[in-house]
Amino acid sequence: MTYKKSIADLEQSKQFLAGGVASTLRAAMQPTPLFAESGSGPYIRDVDGNEYIDYLLGYGPLILGHAHPSLIGALEAAARGGVAYGLQHAGEIELARTLCELLPCAERVALSGSGTEAVMLALRLARAHTNKRKVVRFHGHYHGWSDAIFTSFPSADMKLSSSLTAAQGPVVPGTGGQSASSLDDIILLPWNDPAALEQTLKEQHNEIAAVISEPIMCNSGCIRPKAGYLEQMRSLTRELGIVMILDEVITGFRLGLGGAHGHFGIDPDLVTVGKALGGGIAISAVAGSAEIMKLIETGAVSHLGTLNGSTAATAAALATIRELAADDGAAYIRMNRITNQLTTGIRELMKKHGLPGIVNREGPVFHMMFIEERKVESFEAFSKRDGVLYAKFAALMLEEGVLLRPNGLWYVSAIHSEQEARKTLLAADRAMGRLLAEAI
Ligand code: PMP
Repeated sequence: MTYKKSIADLEQSKQFLAGGVASTLRAAMQPTPLFAESGSGPYIRDVDGNEYIDYLLGYGPLILGHAHPSLIGALEAAARGGVAYGLQHAGEIELARTLCELLPCAERVALSGSGTEAVMLALRLARAHTNKRKVVRFHGHYHGWSDAIFTSFPSADMKLSSSLTAAQGPVVPGTGGQSASSLDDIILLPWNDPAALEQTLKEQHNEIAAVISEPIMCNSGCIRPKAGYLEQMRSLTRELGIVMILDEVITGFRLGLGGAHGHFGIDPDLVTVGKALGGGIAISAVAGSAEIMKLIETGAVSHLGTLNGSTAATAAALATIRELAADDGAAYIRMNRITNQLTTGIRELMKKHGLPGIVNREGPVFHMMFIEERKVESFEAFSKRDGVLYAKFAALMLEEGVLLRPNGLWYVSAIHSEQEARKTLLAADRAMGRLLAEAI
């Protein structure tokens, strides 16, 4: 397999596009950041003519795979009527109503373009609602790259921030150029640590506006909350007048139509959704209690965005949800079945090759890592994984025709089948064999 044209394109791109990639993470792919030519269903093709089974899925949004006919149809119809108006339209009402029906905590929603923006709005609403400033967030979680919250970025596939992955430690800016004072109001805690949460909230509740958490720590090892942890977070925040925000940018519409909070039966004040919601078109939402969301209606909180609620975005979201909801959610049953096939097979292959590792899975998303630990239930344990070995594995999988994110997180779409899963496992078998052979 050669990547000649991708390598040449990167050099050309760098002359005009800063860094040659449009989002910093993408620079980490080995042996080179790939240039894509087209995608179809679960497959993606690069400019050198190589075809891959795709588990990167655009970093999560492509829950229907590439170029799904329903999405194409919805986008084509939207484009014919004009992609954006800067005015209100029926698609916004339909999408907002649908979100209020599907997301258990949603009485009102607000639409934005990205997960980062949705989190910015949720934090603003929480601060305005409580008239307090501080925000508790957790090591290993990711909530977008805005100055207000970008710290402790967990990903090994980003050079600068990978040095900031200590499970404990100070709140340091996640990037050069970030105002250090922007994080003055952030309290960084270990996740899945009920005692630390209780102590901090009880001691500082007069200053704490919000607790923001991924419901499952998808950005660092796909780690589940301990039994009772989210419930504790809910009861403490309710008791102490703190807004509970669940960041469901990954889990929303991926774990199910009701997101992780529906899955776990938790009632947060606000959730943020993005990624899978639009099936690959930029859209995100904040959803939550009418009392808090009313701050937008009264004008107490500003919520802006030129392209918010564009016809293209609302049509894509509605088409995606329609596909996911069809036949009583058959898409989820299928995604879970394929994911199960993959995770069971990968665990067996790790054993077969004597490669100690773990696969943490929740619904159609999982994290595969090479690690000596028997269980990975905290960010501290996750930080012990062999990220370099995994990146090599991902590069070998690429040669075998499987596209993986170099940090270990796999997404499965509603369009992956048993056949792709079987091919993937055969590829993984060969890649693990080569990983060992080439290490000697
Ligand atoms: N929150 C979470 C949990 C995420 O995983 C991400 C993106 N990976 C974001 C927020 C930011 O979303 P976006 O990249 O759309 O700004």
